Amino acid sequence: MKIMYHKIFKLKFLMLIVVYLFYGCIAKEARPVHNYMDTAAYQSEDYIIHEKQTDDTYESIARLYFKNKNKAEILKQENEIFGSNKNKFFIIPLKEQHLGGIYKDGYQGVPILCYHKFDEKTDSKLNISAKAFDAQMKYLKNHNFNVISLKGFLNFIEYKKQIPKKSVVITIDDGFKSGFNVAFPILSKYGFKAVYFVYINYIGISKRAITWQDLKKLKKRGYEIGSHTISHDDLTEKLDGESSENYDKRIKKEIFISKKILDEKLYQDTQFFSLPYGKSNPEVTKLIKSAGYKISVTVKRGSNPFYCDPFHLNRNMILDNNLKKFADKLQTFNYISLK
Ligand SMILES: [Zn+2]
Repeated sequence: MKIMYHKIFKLKFLMLIVVYLFYGCIAKEARPVHNYMDTAAYQSEDYIIHEKQTDDTYESIARLYFKNKNKAEILKQENEIFGSNKNKFFIIPLKEQHLGGIYKDGYQGVPILCYHKFDEKTDSKLNISAKAFDAQMKYLKNHNFNVISLKGFLNFIEYKKQIPKKSVVITIDDGFKSGFNVAFPILSKYGFKAVYFVYINYIGISKRAITWQDLKKLKKRGYEIGSHTISHDDLTEKLDGESSENYDKRIKKEIFISKKILDEKLYQDTQFFSLPYGKSNPEVTKLIKSAGYKISVTVKRGSNPFYCDPFHLNRNMILDNNLKKFADKLQTFNYISLK
C-alpha cells in the first residue's frame, strides 16, 4: 500500500513539474540547492514537495526553506497555481519562476504611488488627510497588495528576483514633517514601508520639515531615502541669462552633491532619484546615471512593466481622498495571451 502510494505520488509529482514548467518563464536559480530530505517528501534540483504538517503556514515554510519569511507571498502564489493537493502538500520552487513578472496570460506592472503631505487642514492638492491615507493603506492590506521596496523593484526589472503579483511601491516626496508624524505611524500599523525623496535645502528648515534625525529613524526601520535634488528647481530649465556652462554646473551639483550629502549623512549609497516636477532631458538623465543612481522617477501616470526605462519610471500621484480613484491607480497586471 505504501509503495503504491509513493508510485502514485511520484507520478503526480512528475505531472506537476510538467505543468509547472509550462507556467514558468525564464527560470533562474535563486539559491544553492541543499538537501532537505529530512523535512521534504521529495526533492529535485528545481522543486521540493513538502508534506503539510498541521501547524505549517506559508510563512513557516518560507522560513524553513528560504530562511526568509518574506518569500511567503510568492510561495502562496505558486501553490495557488496548482490548486489541487494544497491541503496535503506544499510545492516549493527552488528556482525563480516568473522573473520579470511574465505569466502565460500576461505580464505584471508595478504601480509606484506618489504622496506629498498629510496635514489635517489645507487646500493643497498635494495633501491627503490622515483618515484617507489610513483608508488607502487599509485598502491595500485588505486586497492583498504587497508593498515592496525600490530595491525589490530594481531586482524585478533587472530579472534578479521574482516579486509577488500584486506589488506596489509607496513614495513620499519633498520631506514634509507630516510624512514622518502622520504617514510613518500609519504605514507601520499596516506593516508597510515607503521611500522618502527629500531635497536637501528643505531638511530641518522649519517645524513643517522633516529632520535628519527623522530620516535616520526611518532608515533604521528599513525605509529607503532617495534624492530629490538640493533646491527642488526644475532641472530642465535654464535660469535667465545663464550660460550653458553654468547650467551644466548647476544641475550637476543638484544631482551629484545631493547624493553625496545623503550618502554621508545616512551612511548609504543613495540609488534612487526623484525628478522635481517629474521633468528631465537627455543631459539630466545622463548625469543621473553617471552619479550612480539606479532609478529615477517621474510623475507620468501608469504602472511599470519589466521592460520599463528605470530612469523614467511612471508614478501615480495620489491627489485626493477618494478611495475609488485610489483603487483605479493600482493596476498590477496586463492581460495579454503570451501563448
Ligand atoms: Zn517635489
